Amino acid sequence: MLLIYCPYCEEERSELEFRQGGDAHIARPTNMTEMSDEDFEAFFFLRDNVKGLTFERWRHLNGCGRFFNAARDTVSDKFLTTYKAGLPRPDVSTLRPAASAPVETYEATESDAK
Ligand SMILES: [Zn+2]
Repeated sequence: MLLIYCPYCEEERSELEFRQGGDAHIARPTNMTEMSDEDFEAFFFLRDNVKGLTFERWRHLNGCGRFFNAARDTVSDKFLTTYKAGLPRPDVSTLRPAASAPVETYEATESDAK
């Protein structure tokens, strides 16, 4: 089971308590009523489908209920860090996992559990 660290509860909790809430650090346009349909579509619907490091909003839905941000590797599904909403994006150079770090998969973690 994947454990996610909630920066508000200050502890790791089961992934079942969390919900992903889309991309983090999306700047809301200040002139939304003046936007073209194409610009609104790009802001509201179009997102990158990043392979690798991505920054996302998450909510501790079945815990404190608060939103926070996370840096996650979409290939390994590993959370590199989580941080409180409103804080700036952390330095990417310090977040990369070691190349030799094993990928945590369901099969890898469950095979140890007897
Ligand atoms: Zn929490």
